[in-house]
Amino acid sequence: QLKTEIIAVGTELLLGQIANTNAQWLSQQLASVGINVYHHLVVGDNLQRVETVFRQAHTRSDVVIVTGGLGPTDDDLTREAFQAMSSMDIEEHSPSMEKITAFFEKRGSTMTPNNRKQARVFRGATVLNNKTGMAPGMIVSFEGRTWVFLPGVPREMKNLASESVFPYLQGLLGEKQIIKSMVLKFVGIGESQLEHELYDLIQKQDNPTIAPLAQDSGVVIRLTARHSSEIEADKLLDVTKQKVEERLSSYMLGINEQTIEQQIMELLQSTGKNVSAAESLTGGMFADKLVSIPGASDTFKGSIVCYATNVKRDVLGVSQEVMKKNGTVSQACAEQMAEKVSNLLDSSYGISFTGVAGPRVVENQQPGTVFVSIYDRENNRHETREYHLLGDRDTVRHRATLKGLEFLYL
Ligand code: ATP
Ligand code: MG
Repeated sequence: QLKTEIIAVGTELLLGQIANTNAQWLSQQLASVGINVYHHLVVGDNLQRVETVFRQAHTRSDVVIVTGGLGPTDDDLTREAFQAMSSMDIEEHSPSMEKITAFFEKRGSTMTPNNRKQARVFRGATVLNNKTGMAPGMIVSFEGRTWVFLPGVPREMKNLASESVFPYLQGLLGEKQIIKSMVLKFVGIGESQLEHELYDLIQKQDNPTIAPLAQDSGVVIRLTARHSSEIEADKLLDVTKQKVEERLSSYMLGINEQTIEQQIMELLQSTGKNVSAAESLTGGMFADKLVSIPGASDTFKGSIVCYATNVKRDVLGVSQEVMKKNGTVSQACAEQMAEKVSNLLDSSYGISFTGVAGPRVVENQQPGTVFVSIYDRENNRHETREYHLLGDRDTVRHRATLKGLEFLYL
């Protein structure tokens, strides 16, 4: 295993003016080729502090990837800091210098002396030709460690990393490892409960690694296995998937990138049923989810956005009395909405959403109070759930939509 560390140089990162997306992207890519990243570090454009951070990294990591600070200006100090630490010689790299000169000639502008700086590389370094910018990248071996220097500009950094750095590091790993991953999707279970159920598996995880993630549309687990043989990597994934499935089968939605709305569509299709919706607080979000699936017309009839009371009454036909007596945010109103829409749009199921998205209290109900009701027309059966969702207006509306999808699916 290679212990890898990523250092981003730039005061603008410390000031919060930009986010360290370079480290995020590098980490994602490295993880996918089976290289472990142990530290992310951010340091400002200060010679001494950069040098200190470099020395620390040198003691603990096999590979150090540095982004930023290779440019022409005075605050670009990465070279100087590494030279201070390593005492390696710096020389001008003539192909890079020619490129810089040609660039200025072509533009008809004069090159300022500090632009020469970008062509300066460590003696003995592998110089990485930057096709989208001026400063080349470098790979330097020093005291048994591998140091990689990349420009800060994300596009340039990504190009050089993909073309040269990752293949180089995979070479260092020796035997080529095949990385396979699998995503397991869950609904109706939160991230913390899921982690609790899988606690011992997660503790012992190594190959495959098990990473639970909360997403907008529910919780997923990413399994990642490494092996020199693809078949063996798949086997490792399958074994772990089965262990997870044994414990959480009732919550498991499926594998890989299948969304809950796709699953609902398939389920409805296979049973020859269809659904329609009456949406108050979700304002069409539920419809949007289902319509985003190609071929939705077989299984999704439509949705009526009935936000105002008079639309619930005049378009859907919810009785004025029911709304007056119980309020529009109520089980009774939700049941009528679901039933009326399924009759109006001639669907096997009607689903309704009514609630308080916030931020204000409505009809004495707190923001986040939501009723979702499903009407099964064939069996003339109602089922209603009441939720108390957290978050701002937008979050409540998204969560309500998700709850409806889960309710319908499970
Ligand atoms: P240049 O030749 O453009 O000066 P450089 O190698 O000196 O490149 P920096 O000056 O540190 O790199 O950064 C150039 C630009 O790249 C920054 O203004 C910023 O927008 C972006 N950048 C730098 N570091 C990061 C990072 N870690 N994550 C995301 N963007 C970054
Ligand atoms: Mg710069």
